[in-house]
Amino acid sequence: MNKLDSQLLSGELMRHGFVLEGDADRADVVLYNTCSVRQHAEDRVFSHVGALRRRAEREPGFIVGVIGCMAQRLGAELVRRFDFIDLVCGTRAFPDVPRHLERILAGGGPVVDVREDGAVACRRMPAMRVRPHSAHVAVMRGCDNYCSYCIVPYVRGREMSRRPADVVSEVRALAEDGAREVVLLGQNVNSYGRGLPGPAVDLADLLGMVNDVPGLYRVRFVTSNPKDMSDRILRAVAELDKVCEHLHVPAQSASNPVLERMNRRYTAGQYRDMARRARETIPDVELASDFIVGFPGETAQDFDRTLALVQEVRFQQSFVFKYSPRPHTLAARWPDDVPDQTKRERNLRLLDAQEAVDTKRRTGMIGSDVQVLVDGVSKGDPRKLSGRTRQNDIVVFEGSEELVGRLCTVRLTDSTPLTLFGAVLPTPS
Ligand code: SAH
Ligand code: SF4
Repeated sequence: MNKLDSQLLSGELMRHGFVLEGDADRADVVLYNTCSVRQHAEDRVFSHVGALRRRAEREPGFIVGVIGCMAQRLGAELVRRFDFIDLVCGTRAFPDVPRHLERILAGGGPVVDVREDGAVACRRMPAMRVRPHSAHVAVMRGCDNYCSYCIVPYVRGREMSRRPADVVSEVRALAEDGAREVVLLGQNVNSYGRGLPGPAVDLADLLGMVNDVPGLYRVRFVTSNPKDMSDRILRAVAELDKVCEHLHVPAQSASNPVLERMNRRYTAGQYRDMARRARETIPDVELASDFIVGFPGETAQDFDRTLALVQEVRFQQSFVFKYSPRPHTLAARWPDDVPDQTKRERNLRLLDAQEAVDTKRRTGMIGSDVQVLVDGVSKGDPRKLSGRTRQNDIVVFEGSEELVGRLCTVRLTDSTPLTLFGAVLPTPS
């Protein structure tokens, strides 16, 4: 979501005549788009912003802004802490950043805009895409789930779905502009449609409408909540040709007492049932998850249950986070009682277990043919191309740059952690 916000804002700034400069040392304006989800992310912003103090004091015309979740959370406190900051702009006021910058450039700063209300931000802002063939589309904003550890509902506000017609017309415009893959985004994307006026519509309906947009090859959606993964959605993934067989459904933990304290509103058994339904309904589906280790009160036994889930479900990918208390949240009122050393050990053990299941999975893929959407030149080896399978596995292979943005079939020959290697097969004429 943050990456999309940055792209939307870049597009909007360019439309207002700003020029994008990748090197912060040479830019006249530096904007930090921030995330508040984990303490670590905020600490990094503090150190980046702090490092700009000398330049800001030396060059009065140099503009520094902090935007996004952290700006929403801290507001004017940021300006008190860093008196050289010119712009603090929260999550609801994104479309106004160019206007604020213009005001600051005219000498009217600093500006702090952390309004609580506001329409779904950025609705009509054309995004600047990193890869022209792949685009992100926010189909909803905010979240109403109030998981007890999570700051998102406090900094991003109530869950609000966009109207399907608006989503589809944006996707259509993106496809006409060369997008071949769209990723539909929401904090709880599989509850899409809740609260919309008019006839009921859910994510399965929306996927059907987006699947019909001409020019697209692939449709993805993130992030799903296990409690909202209906059979209708699973069937839509199975039946719609462009919708990829990859579900990011964070489990967070597989211990029922922990899940209950997290306020996730499903049990480990219901998670397992969801994974089984997904595998039964969607051939070749892969599942990915997030986990939090060291949540308040997490015992060794709780953690072992989570470890067992990783081995049992055989996730394609797991993102593991050490718990950190976040302001406003319920869990922040409880003692953060798992020592950091234990959090670190559990983090590593879970990642090791994940790597073991994934290595086995990927080794089993060698020799098979996969459909790849070519992303570009490989970062690791500029003589090769890199692309992704429908299940979002990265594949590296030799080929000409003309293939970028196109689909091809690759026969897999080798695998290392995180990357598959192969050779492109000639396209049948
Ligand atoms: N809406 C998504 C993702 C939200 S944030 C979802 O519900 O799955 C991304 C991930 O950050 C979460 O899945 C969770 O694993 C992690 N996270 C959120 N708050 C955290 C906290 N206080 N400490 C550690 N990890 C956290
Ligand atoms: Fe946070 Fe839970 Fe909402 Fe995800 S579903 S954004 S973890 S409150």
